[in-house]
Amino acid sequence: MNFIPLAKPVLKGNEKKYVSQCLKNEWISSKGDFVRAFEESFSRFCQRKYAVAATNGTTALHLALLSLGVGPGDEIIVPDLTFISPVNMIIQTGARPVLADVDPDSWTLSAEEVERKVTSKTKAIIVVHLYGMPAKMKELERIARKHRLPIIEDAAEAHGAYSHGRITGSFGEVSCFSFFGNKIITTGEGGICLTNKKSLADKIRLLASHGMDPQKKYNHKAIAFNYRLTNLQAAIGLAQMEQIDSFLEKRQAIASFYSELLSGIKGIILPFYHGEAKPVCWLYSVLVEKERDFLVKELLDAGIETRPFFIPVHKMALYQGYGGGEKFPRAEFLSTRGINLPTYPGLTKNEIRYIAGKIKEIIK
Ligand SMILES: *Cc1c(COP(=O)(O)O)cnc(C)c1O
Repeated sequence: MNFIPLAKPVLKGNEKKYVSQCLKNEWISSKGDFVRAFEESFSRFCQRKYAVAATNGTTALHLALLSLGVGPGDEIIVPDLTFISPVNMIIQTGARPVLADVDPDSWTLSAEEVERKVTSKTKAIIVVHLYGMPAKMKELERIARKHRLPIIEDAAEAHGAYSHGRITGSFGEVSCFSFFGNKIITTGEGGICLTNKKSLADKIRLLASHGMDPQKKYNHKAIAFNYRLTNLQAAIGLAQMEQIDSFLEKRQAIASFYSELLSGIKGIILPFYHGEAKPVCWLYSVLVEKERDFLVKELLDAGIETRPFFIPVHKMALYQGYGGGEKFPRAEFLSTRGINLPTYPGLTKNEIRYIAGKIKEIIK
């Protein structure tokens, strides 16, 4: 069996054709038709009015925070179990991340914990959908409404998931996605902000583009950035959007097959989805009751790349202070037991059988 990576992109659609068009017509910067076409395609997919493409998911989060006026003195509630980007971007604005524990079943931000962490300084809540599992948006929206706080959705790991019948990315005041090489669709590096408010979309576009006045060139209205996606990247993104439904179907089939093969193994806990969630399979994930790290190592020896769950943010020295000295029992529980298994549309049934077989063998 060849080495099986955790993730890899599928570039078998119109990617080459569209990139060649850019090279041929020489539109390779962020100017060019593919950027707008990709933005439109993605906002339609997520049922949103406005989209602004960005250099990556991290800069998209930075733009989202700044568009809502987040800055020094503000507190932003964010889950303790997450990829680090949202936390870093909160700190970059000068605001303070306030870590909150996750739900045991959704693995994402707990509404109860959010409510406990709200203070007079709270300015926004960042919800992170984890490994394809959407957060419990109804409960989170209720808390947000009660305290009049905007939600920023970090949907970098959940393109196409649904919570209570609504697609991820359609909930946040601003919602952010990443199109890194291992995500559900990719532009190599890339990201996007979505919103229904024109004023926010305009602000995001301004901040992503040198703060330059669209009415009067070289007149600058904000201390800003250049966070623009290129036409070459958007060309890949548009080709990926043409295939997103089939990618999601294939990923769902992979999840079902994994679950079928791994169910009933003592010591392995399969993901269980909370009631109103329709997750997508970004990375198929299970919990291992004992010696997760040993399993990771043994699988790697067998040519299978896996990934342990994220380290709880409060556990890292850099971020300790943001935990307020509290314990985060659910994030810690999941973090020491969770493992992501190889997941990508090109993964074959035979490879999944091989992976499941190895897991059985090692667990024994
Ligand atoms: C991948 C990811 C990001 C960052 O995206 P980049 O495009 O790599 O900057 C942010 N948040 C989450 C939850 C992610 O998984």
